[in-house]
Amino acid sequence: MNNIRRGWCPSLFHPMKTGDGWLCRIKPFFAKLTSRQARFIARSASDLGNGFINLSQKANLQLRGFTPEHIQQFIPFANQENLCSLNALEEGKRNILISPLAGIDPSCHQDTILYAQCVHHEIIENETIQFLSDKFSFVIDGDGLYPLTQHHADINLRFYHNQWILQLGYAQQVIPCDLNHCPKLLKQILEFCHHHNYPRLLHQDHTEQFLKETSISGQSYNHSTSSERLSIGQFPQGYHIGIPFGLLNSHDLNVLADISDQYGNSTLQITPDRSIILPYCSAKAHGDLKSFITDQNDIRLHIISCPGKPYCFQGQQPTMHDIQKLIHFWHSKLQTLHISGCAKGCASPQKNPMTLCATPKGYTLILNGRADDKSIYQDLDLTKINSLFLTHSKMN
Ligand code: SF4
Repeated sequence: MNNIRRGWCPSLFHPMKTGDGWLCRIKPFFAKLTSRQARFIARSASDLGNGFINLSQKANLQLRGFTPEHIQQFIPFANQENLCSLNALEEGKRNILISPLAGIDPSCHQDTILYAQCVHHEIIENETIQFLSDKFSFVIDGDGLYPLTQHHADINLRFYHNQWILQLGYAQQVIPCDLNHCPKLLKQILEFCHHHNYPRLLHQDHTEQFLKETSISGQSYNHSTSSERLSIGQFPQGYHIGIPFGLLNSHDLNVLADISDQYGNSTLQITPDRSIILPYCSAKAHGDLKSFITDQNDIRLHIISCPGKPYCFQGQQPTMHDIQKLIHFWHSKLQTLHISGCAKGCASPQKNPMTLCATPKGYTLILNGRADDKSIYQDLDLTKINSLFLTHSKMN
C-alpha cells in the first residue's frame, strides 16, 4: 500500500488547498437544503470560487476555487443561512450521514430525524468530542426506500429487524438502542473513547472491549449490504436525479432550486451517492432535468471519478477530461468503474470491480481492489485501457 495521508478531513473552518484553489466544504444539516440555501450556495460558488461544486460520498457539497480570504468572507454568511455550525470544533465533528428520505418516505422509520438530532445534540454538548478524530462519523439509517446498510461510520444507528440498534464500525455484535436510551449510550461510548484515547472506533476489538467494560449484552447483526436502493427517476414521493460524476456548477444548482420551487416542496435532499432527491417533485419537471441523469440505465451512474488534475494537487492525470472518452469504452451496467486521480482514491475508498488509478505515466488498472492496490496492468494509455476493458467484458 502506498504511503498516503488519509487522516485529515477538511471542513469549512479548516479548508484544504487543492489544485484549483481552496476547497470550501458545506455539510447541510440532515442532508437537506432549502431552495434558498441552494441559491445562496450557487451564488457563492460563482462569486467567490470557480463555480464548480462536487458532491461527496458523505452527502456534503464542496465548493472549489476559493481563496482563504473568500472563505473567511463566506463563513458568517453561511452561518446566517444555517449552513454551518457556530464554531470550528462543532463543524469539524458534525459528520452525520442520515437516510436522505427521512421524513419523506413513509417506510423510513419515523424516529430517524429524532436519532440524528440526538447525535447532533451530543456533538454540541459533550466536551469529550474534542478528543475524537475529525473523521469520526455517525450514520443514521432509518431503512425504507433508501437504506444506508453499505455505509459504515464509527457509530451507526440503524433500524433493523423492527428495532433500533447501535453498531460500532463494522461490528457483528450490536446494542439495542431505543430513543430514550440513546443519549446515555452515546455518552458512554464517547467516555470510553476518551478514557482509552481512541480517536476512532472502527475495529471489532473496540466493540468487544466496550461490551465487556460496560457489561452491556450485544446481539448479533447480519445485514445484507446489497439492499436495493431507490432507483433514479420519478417515485411516489418525488424525483431522484443523478449528478454526472458528482460534479455540479452553480448554474445547475440554480436550475434545481427553481425546479424544486416550481414542481416540488422547495427543498433538495443530498444523498451519499452523488445524487439529489427533489421531494414531492411532479413528473412535469422531467423536461427541465435534461442536464442531469434521470434514467437508471444511464451508464454514467456506473462510473465514479474524482476531479483529478489540474483540480487537485495530487492528481496525476486529467480524469474529468479522460472520462469523456472512457465513458464510451465502459459498457457494464452491472459493475462500477472507479477512476481515481491518484492512489488516495477519495471518490471511492472501498474496493471496486474495476479501478483506474492515475500515475505520472498513465493509469494502473486494478481488478476487484482499491486505488492503492498493486496490479500488473500499469502505465496504460486510453487505447490500452479500451482493449483491456474489451478482454474483461468477454471473460465475464
Ligand atoms: S484521489 Fe483524486 S481528489 Fe483525492 S487526492 Fe487523489 S487526485 Fe485528489
